[in-house]
Amino acid sequence: MNRAEPRRPAAILLVLLAAALAGGCERAPEIHREQAFVLGTLVEITAADVSGDTFHRAAGAAFRELRGLHDALTPVDPGSRLSAFNRRGHDRWVDLEGPLAPLLPRALSVQRASGNAFNPHLGRLVGLWGFRQPPFPDAPPPAAAVDALLAAGAGDHALALRRRGGLQARLTRPGAALDLGGIAKGYALDRAAAVLRGRGVGDALINAGGDLRALGRRGGRPWRVGIRNPRDKDDVLAVVALRPGEAIVTSGDYERFFMHDGVRYHHLLDPASGRPARAARQATVLGPRATEADAWSTALFVAGPDGLARLGAEQPGLVIDAGGRAHANGAMRARLEWQSDEVAAP
Ligand code: ADP
Ligand code: MG
Repeated sequence: MNRAEPRRPAAILLVLLAAALAGGCERAPEIHREQAFVLGTLVEITAADVSGDTFHRAAGAAFRELRGLHDALTPVDPGSRLSAFNRRGHDRWVDLEGPLAPLLPRALSVQRASGNAFNPHLGRLVGLWGFRQPPFPDAPPPAAAVDALLAAGAGDHALALRRRGGLQARLTRPGAALDLGGIAKGYALDRAAAVLRGRGVGDALINAGGDLRALGRRGGRPWRVGIRNPRDKDDVLAVVALRPGEAIVTSGDYERFFMHDGVRYHHLLDPASGRPARAARQATVLGPRATEADAWSTALFVAGPDGLARLGAEQPGLVIDAGGRAHANGAMRARLEWQSDEVAAP
C-alpha cells in the first residue's frame, strides 16, 4: 500500500531556537552541522562552540562508529555478527563478539523490567511480518504462520547468558532469533556521543531519524527538541529542554507500516500476540543513556499507558494511546512544555 511512499519524517523535530528569539541577550553560538545516511536513516550531528576542523574530524569518526555498529547488528546482512549468532546460537553456547557482548545484558534487563514488552529476540516474527526493509508487504502474514512461531517460543523469554571468561549466549526456543532493532540505534547514539567527546566535541546533538542524544549545551542554553503529533507532523505536541548528556527516543506506528482493509499494521510487535501492538500510536522516553531510552520507548509503545507504571520514578515517559490521548508519568510532566491545540496535555 505505502510501497512507493517515502518514510514519513520522524516524530521528533529539532527546535533550535535562536537566542534572540528566546528573548536572551547572550551571544549566539557558532553552529556546525554534518549529515550522513547510516543506520537506515539520516543521521545529523550538530555542534556548538568548537572549531570547524575539530568538528569535521570528530563527526567523521562518529559516522564511522555508527557504520561499524550497523554492520555488526543488522539482521539483513547474513555476514553480520548478529546473523552469525542466529545461525549458531540455537541450543548451544556461543561466545559473544563485538557489540553483542555489552548490548545483550542491557537488552535482557529491559526485557525483564518491562515484563517482556521489550523482547530482543523477535527476529523470526519481525522477518515474517516483512518490516525489515522497504518495500513493506501489503497484507499481514497468514495467522497460522504467526501462531506456529508463537508455539515455537518466538515471543517467550528465550535468551540465556553465562560468563565463561567472556560472555556467552544461547537461544533456548526454536522460534526465537535475535533482533536488536529496538535498542541498537540507542546504543549507536551513545557510542557516537562517546566518540565525539573523546575527540574534543563537548556540546553537540546527534539526531538519528528522530532519536536524539545531547552532549553538553548549545551556547550556554539547553538543546531544545520538539515531540511531534504522530498523526500530524506539523503539530508539535511539546518541547523538551534536554539536560547535558540526555537522550530522547520515540517509537511510533507511522514509520514502518502498511494499511490493509483499513487496518494499520506496523513494525512494533506485541511478544504476547506476535502481532502489531495495539495500545499506542507513539511512546517517548527520556534518560541519561540512549541505549535504555531506546529499549524503553519500544517497551512503552507495546505496553501502552499501563507501561508507564513500569518506568522508574526518575524515568520520564509519554504515551499517545490508540485513541490519540496523551499520558505521561510525573517525571515527564515536569519536563514537557506543552504546545499542541490538537491533543490535550497529559
Ligand atoms: P525505530 O527503530 O523505528 O525507531 P524502535 O526503536 O521502537 O523503532 O524499534 C523497532 C524495531 O524493534 C522493529 O523494527 C523490530 O526490529 C524490533 N521490535 C519490534 N517489536 C519489538 C518488541 N516488542 N521488543 C523489542 N524489539 C522489537
Ligand atoms: Mg526502541
